[in-house]
Amino acid sequence: EEKVSRHFIEQEIDKDLKEGVYNEVCTRFPPEPNGYLHIGHAKSILLNYGLAKEYNGKFHMRFDDTNPVKEKNEFVESIKSDIEWLGADWGDQIFFASDYFDKMYETAVKLIKKGKAYVCDLSADQIREYRGTLTSPGKESPYRNRSIEENLDLFERMKNGEFADGEKVLRAKIDMSASNINMRDPVIYRIAHLSHQRTKDKWCIYPMYDFAHPIEDAIEHITHSICTLEFEDHRPLYDWVVKEGEFENPPRQIEFAKLYLTNVITGKRYIKKLVEDGIVDGWDDPRLVTISALKRRGFTPESIKRFVELCGVSKSQSSVDYAMLEYCIREDLKLKKSRMLAVLDPIKLVIDNYPEGEYEELDVDNNLENPELGKRKVPFGRELYIEREDFMEEPPKKYFRLFPGNEVRLMYAYFVTCTGFEKDENGNITVVHCTYDPETKSGSGFNARKVKGTIHWVPAQYAIKAEVRLYENIVDENKGKLNEDGSINLNPNSLTVLKDCYVEPALKDAKAYDSFQFVRKGYFCVDSKDSKEEHLVFNRIVSLKSSFKI
Ligand code: ATP
Ligand code: MG
Ligand code: MG
Repeated sequence: EEKVSRHFIEQEIDKDLKEGVYNEVCTRFPPEPNGYLHIGHAKSILLNYGLAKEYNGKFHMRFDDTNPVKEKNEFVESIKSDIEWLGADWGDQIFFASDYFDKMYETAVKLIKKGKAYVCDLSADQIREYRGTLTSPGKESPYRNRSIEENLDLFERMKNGEFADGEKVLRAKIDMSASNINMRDPVIYRIAHLSHQRTKDKWCIYPMYDFAHPIEDAIEHITHSICTLEFEDHRPLYDWVVKEGEFENPPRQIEFAKLYLTNVITGKRYIKKLVEDGIVDGWDDPRLVTISALKRRGFTPESIKRFVELCGVSKSQSSVDYAMLEYCIREDLKLKKSRMLAVLDPIKLVIDNYPEGEYEELDVDNNLENPELGKRKVPFGRELYIEREDFMEEPPKKYFRLFPGNEVRLMYAYFVTCTGFEKDENGNITVVHCTYDPETKSGSGFNARKVKGTIHWVPAQYAIKAEVRLYENIVDENKGKLNEDGSINLNPNSLTVLKDCYVEPALKDAKAYDSFQFVRKGYFCVDSKDSKEEHLVFNRIVSLKSSFKI
């Protein structure tokens, strides 16, 4: 695909290279290991990785593990496997921010020595109060003018564990009257007597994000530190830390708008709540848009890449229709996947003039639009299953499927004419009867008459029972994502489980993550968690039709 124009980040990088600000490009993806990655992160990963590749530069995978409270190794592992699956290659080194704790401490000491940082005893509430607001200036802390010696001593004692959590913090000494509140003496170190998943009990003081992040970037010689828009007014602080920390080859921060997708839940906080409350089946529930959920649902890395490309990179916030993601997976699978027969809501069809006990094997194209996928055999006989909705006792106008007296085509097979049906004592139709015309076999060139409807089927004796799960969006944007009490306004129909479906025998050996088109029904993927050889479970990835147009 041709790129029409270069997005603003590419333009910035072009300029930096041309002006010799940098000679090469190094980007990074810096997740905090406090949850699973979602589609928004995929955008950041593919953007950063894509830029590194485009400019023949480097891409760093870095865990931003400076806050031990919520971080877990489970998340480190899931993040790694998600990024690998997306196809971003981080080479043979993974970086951890916690490896730089010594360097960060040293930098803090350097700032103290330069008179650019001080230990403050105000409480968190007091600091907030002193900070002022957008319209009122901040007030200086009474501890702001401590001597360098006293600050060095107190900071060391903070490190040595002499104080309780919250008793003291280290603050950058910048400007309490700055119009940008982030520059009003921000806290850069706090005390937290917590064991860290990697550094264990070595530290009881931890750096704040705004202090740690620029140092991480600078240590790794990142050139372009790409982050989301909410950090735009943190950039002066980022630049301040790099400058006062006296790092060579300073990195620069560039912000872009977050990817926001309609009718889904992003945001670790909300996803975590759904998982913890047991409302969804783990972080990879196919209704979620975590990367592991998308993978389980049957999305491909290619479809996500395409989606992210279509979204573009911009500085203004906007939301993207979920239908666009569906469009991308449909386009990706269209020519790659075989079109199989599956009946989701079965009713029996008996062809009374077809010899009892006999079956013939039909030659069927796997994908008419892509002959490379070859052909397969499908057994056909006297008893079949068809979709319940493909028969009506009393059809409305323009119903061209089966009803008494009407003739339809059975896909890949023959014309059949409905001759009758049976009902149980409750009036439910149990069996539909028909006769077939041997002359009308598909591929025989028969054209003496035409029919208006074509329906699909599976051979009753050889069909395999399967479970099929259909999904709708987990929330409806128009009805509001959240209830008044802050809980998520879930779509009650987000999951439909169909337990008595039948699929054609060729699907017998389908394995986790295999995907197919089920004719007329959509694209489906074998569920990696629940599908077993003796109990196949399919997730619908997406239906076949959409009004969405590019
Ligand atoms: P969330 O708020 O959704 O839980 P986060 O921003 O807290 O995500 P991090 O682990 O801090 O998650 O993010 C890692 C990287 O992914 C950051 O560089 C961040 O800017 C980027 N990122 C997070 N969400 C999005 C999004 N919706 N669109 C694009 N990039 C994102
Ligand atoms: Mg975060
Ligand atoms: Mg966040």
